[in-house]
Amino acid sequence: MKIFYKSITDNMAQQRFEEFHVIPQKTLWCCKKLNDHDSQYSLWNVKWAKFYFKDISPDGNMAFFPMYHCPYCGEKIEYEQIDSTSN
Ligand SMILES: [Zn+2]
Repeated sequence: MKIFYKSITDNMAQQRFEEFHVIPQKTLWCCKKLNDHDSQYSLWNVKWAKFYFKDISPDGNMAFFPMYHCPYCGEKIEYEQIDSTSN
């Protein structure tokens, strides 16, 4: 599946920061399970522009990992940024 996202820049409170937002209209889910998972627990990381999952790292701490394959059906997940100035 392919995820399309765009960059959102916020200048509020003189702190400029950038976030990435999924464009839901363009997202075709690879399988219903992943879609259901996302509607229950959002998978999207606005800073990484990636889906992520939580796991225990080798040193025993909770860690976050970017997702490149669907954990349910195994399909490759690709990420593509859309120019936010063009609609
Ligand atoms: Zn899937």
